[in-house]
Amino acid sequence: MNTTQIQRVFDHEHFVENASLVVNRLADYLADDSLRGLDLQEPAHLHEVARKLMVHQHDTLPEFDARRLRRIVDLFIATGIQGSSPGAMGRHLSGIVPLSAVIDMVGSIVNQPVAFYEIGQLPSVVERIMADELNRYIGYDPNRFDMVTTSGGSLASMTAMLAARNHSFPDFWQQGCRSVGVEAPAVMVSEDVHYSITRALGILGIGTEQVIKLPVDDKRRLRVDRIAPMLVAARERNLKVFCLVATVGTWTVGAIDQIDEIVEVTREHDIWLHVDGAHGASLLVSDLLRHRLAGLGRADSFAWNAHKMMFVSAPCTLLFYRDKARGAGAFRQQASYIFETQPDKYSSYDHAEMTFECTRRPMIMGLWIAWALYGRSLFSEKIEYLCSLAEEFYEYLGEQPDFRALLRPESNIVCFRYRPHEMADDRLSDLQAAVCKAVERDRMFFISRVDLMEVTSLRCIFTNHRTTAEHYVALLEKIRKLGTALLNAGRDQSCC
Ligand SMILES: *Cc1c(COP(=O)(O)O)cnc(C)c1O
Repeated sequence: MNTTQIQRVFDHEHFVENASLVVNRLADYLADDSLRGLDLQEPAHLHEVARKLMVHQHDTLPEFDARRLRRIVDLFIATGIQGSSPGAMGRHLSGIVPLSAVIDMVGSIVNQPVAFYEIGQLPSVVERIMADELNRYIGYDPNRFDMVTTSGGSLASMTAMLAARNHSFPDFWQQGCRSVGVEAPAVMVSEDVHYSITRALGILGIGTEQVIKLPVDDKRRLRVDRIAPMLVAARERNLKVFCLVATVGTWTVGAIDQIDEIVEVTREHDIWLHVDGAHGASLLVSDLLRHRLAGLGRADSFAWNAHKMMFVSAPCTLLFYRDKARGAGAFRQQASYIFETQPDKYSSYDHAEMTFECTRRPMIMGLWIAWALYGRSLFSEKIEYLCSLAEEFYEYLGEQPDFRALLRPESNIVCFRYRPHEMADDRLSDLQAAVCKAVERDRMFFISRVDLMEVTSLRCIFTNHRTTAEHYVALLEKIRKLGTALLNAGRDQSCC
């Protein structure tokens, strides 16, 4: 082994020199406020390019080539969603508070994940601090609630539903399906539920056939008046509904279910209410918007993706439980080498018992450092700006004869259609899909599309404070131009 060469790799000067190169490159990226969409590359081509950037020498350490590092970083940046561009409106992921990412690097270099207390002391403590900070806006009983971070909203909701299942079917953990009597476990969800919820119910042994879908109203909120009659119908089919999953901020249009009304029904029927707040729970931190989530502080559990509207890197998800004893019921395992049978002052600070993941990224650190350095108003002001921008965009769409917004936005998502003249629904859908592709190829804006209410729509998700009215006006102009060209070409080729 050539130790001198190996030492060089771990050497602090080598690190500082090359990390500075990367930081400078990131500074250029952050400073660039030009309009840029997504550079969607052919995967086979990108595969080739990425392969060519690798060293071919594997028997001994090659000479270090900083240009290779720089090219890798440049490629990573160029092929990413341009979150710092005002043209980025396509995905829920946000441009992040830049300094929150610096703590990720610290966590990576000192390699301090979060698992049990001894492994990640500061993140364990910080999880508790952030839980208390955020609970000021949730309103759970401070002595009873709990919070654990998970790698993403999908895992958070699955964990909460597992806790709910074990609460209603206490023998399920040990006996599996055998423990189920005549009444099979079932879960109620909205028609617009995120796919991760139904998938999780497949994994949890509930079976997707025992997922009961509630219809939605004209605002795409689940219909509260249908819950009770559908519970009766479920009982007649020998189904025991143990959990209802509502959503604050649906993935598609950002619709917010009426939690305060739903919770009345779930309590009356002794059903666990889990709220998928992956997208919308962030509105909690705003005094102006919190009322839209009324009742969330009475839900049994809810999932909150800080990597969406709290402007930190993904994944960073917080899973809240109203009652920590119920949260602790998700995993009923005894592993004495990790879990202290008698909680002590250390173990009471970790969440090893409450998560599927043993070792997790210390994802809370990025959220905490931003909160610690800038306080709440950074988040509340930015969220309020983005939601008011969505509202203005909706109003503006209303004034355009050739555009139609689908719904008044409840958060930062606006779905709309380009309809220059009357056309049948299937042609209208084809046109939206073609426009979305054309916008992507044009590379100034990044938007997305959703298939909802039988027709495809275009979708803007405002995540960047740099985006202003000027940009959505320019986007609509762009769509008109590209759409007209498509329609003209279509007249010749009858494509759309
Ligand atoms: C993003 C999202 C999810 C999934 O969260 P992940 O972090 O991607 O696992 C679930 N539900 C809703 C409503 C979402 O917006």
